[in-house]
Parts: sequence; C-alpha cells; structure tokens
Amino acid sequence: MSRHLCSKCQFPASHCLCGHVEKVDCETHLIILQHPSEVKHAKNSVRLLPLSLPNIQIVVGESEADFVELRAWLITQKKPIYLLYPSDSSRDISETQATENAILIVLDGTWRKAHKMLMLNPWLLAFTHLSITPDRPSNYKIRKASRSDSLSSLEAAAFGIKTLEPMVNISPLLNLFDAMIAQQLAAMPANVRKRYR
Ligand SMILES: [Zn+2]
Repeated sequence: MSRHLCSKCQFPASHCLCGHVEKVDCETHLIILQHPSEVKHAKNSVRLLPLSLPNIQIVVGESEADFVELRAWLITQKKPIYLLYPSDSSRDISETQATENAILIVLDGTWRKAHKMLMLNPWLLAFTHLSITPDRPSNYKIRKASRSDSLSSLEAAAFGIKTLEPMVNISPLLNLFDAMIAQQLAAMPANVRKRYR
C-alpha cells in the first residue's frame, strides 16, 4: 500500500475516498472530543466527518485542562448545546424538539475511555445529555463494538444531526462511512476478512 496521502481526504492514495464525498447540508455545529488514543487509529471514523460536514471541530484531549479553550468558547455561544451520551440523566434524543443551529458534542473513544472523559470533565454535565435510537443497524464491521450503543462515532454523530434537523439528508455521511468500511475489508487478506462477516 502506498504511504502517499491524498491531499484532499488525507487517506492513502490507494484508499482515496474523494469519489465518495458528498456534502451534508446541515446547520448543527458538531464538536468531537477525541480521546488521544483514537487519533492514530486507522479505523477511526471521525476523520471522515470534516470531508462531509460544514461545521465541525475536533478537539483532542482527555482531562479538563485539554479543553480549557473550548470551554471558554462554548460559554460565549448562544446556541443550545447537547452532549450525545447515554448517561443516567440522558433523554432519548427523539424526545427532543428539533433544534436547528445547535451545538452537538460527541465523545470519540471506546466506551471505557469516553466514560473516563466524562468523569474527568464535570463541566460536560451542565449540558443536556441525549441518547439516540439509530434507524439502521451499525455497519461497524471492522472494529469490535466498544460503545454501549455499538455505533461508530460517525454513525452516532449522523443520527444526532438527523434528530436535531429532521429535514437534513445524512446519507452522504453514512455512504462515506460504508465506502471506508468496504475498502478496509477489501484490503484485508481473505482469511482475516472472514472473521468480520
Ligand atoms: Zn482523496
């Protein structure tokens, strides 16, 4: 496999996904709090999000100190802010009134890491916690389901946006994700690939 990266999608040129990129027309501002252990993870779905979404910020960190700047910015925002997280106090996101122009925060990490991030960042508890009910089964074949909802961060974010903005078509995001999964499966030796089916 070539190590040369496509300048647009930043995937290896041999796995360029540009042909599958289509913009999602949404107003939700998505903020991903990415655990440092996810940054170099080849199977991480978050790196697809900036290709397709108009308003997205990815902030890498774990402890409160890592998110000081982000918090200062969030305090200045007049928009409603939601945290996508199935905690005890979370409401199913479908019970929430559709809200355009909201800020949606998603934790990107294994279930255990995401939980740790929440414990280390009590300021996140100030936001309404929301959980989602996906309307399609996850296509996360290439990684062990580690979130409690068994979704990739991309799928969780996409369903979150869909609930806040029901008129938005999120299929470009899901299609892009499916294309990445298909490519990664195709790149596996046949005996390895069998385990994922
Ligand atoms: Zn590309």
